[in-house]
Amino acid sequence: MAVRTCPNCGAVMPAGSVAVYSYDLVCANCQHPLAISELSRNLAAFAGLAGGAIAWWIVTLRFAEQHVALGWVWPVFLPYLAASVVAAVTLMLVANLELSDGDPAPHGAAVTSHVHH
Ligand SMILES: [Zn+2]
Repeated sequence: MAVRTCPNCGAVMPAGSVAVYSYDLVCANCQHPLAISELSRNLAAFAGLAGGAIAWWIVTLRFAEQHVALGWVWPVFLPYLAASVVAAVTLMLVANLELSDGDPAPHGAAVTSHVHH
C-alpha cells in the first residue's frame, strides 16, 4: 500500500497535514476521518529517539572539553530538537493511513470501567 493514501478513495494526503493533524486527520477528497497506523507511529517515534541519541552523542563529543557558561544546554537542547524533527519527517515519509471512526481515543481506554471495587 502506498504511503499517505486514503484507504477509502485512494487520494494521497499532503505530507505536511499528516504531520500537523496526525490526531484529527480528515481526507481532503472524501472527508472520511483517517488515522495513522500504530506501526507508522512507533516507527517514527523510535526513529526520533535514535536521531536524538545520535545528536546527543555528537554534541557531547563536541562540547566535552569546552567549559563555557551554559555549555550543558547544548547536549540537552540540540538532541531534543533533533528528535522532534526526525520523528516528524519520518512520520511524513512512512505514514500509513487507515480508516478511523472519528474517535481519537484508543479503543482499549474503556477497559478500566469494567473493574469492580
Ligand atoms: Zn479519501
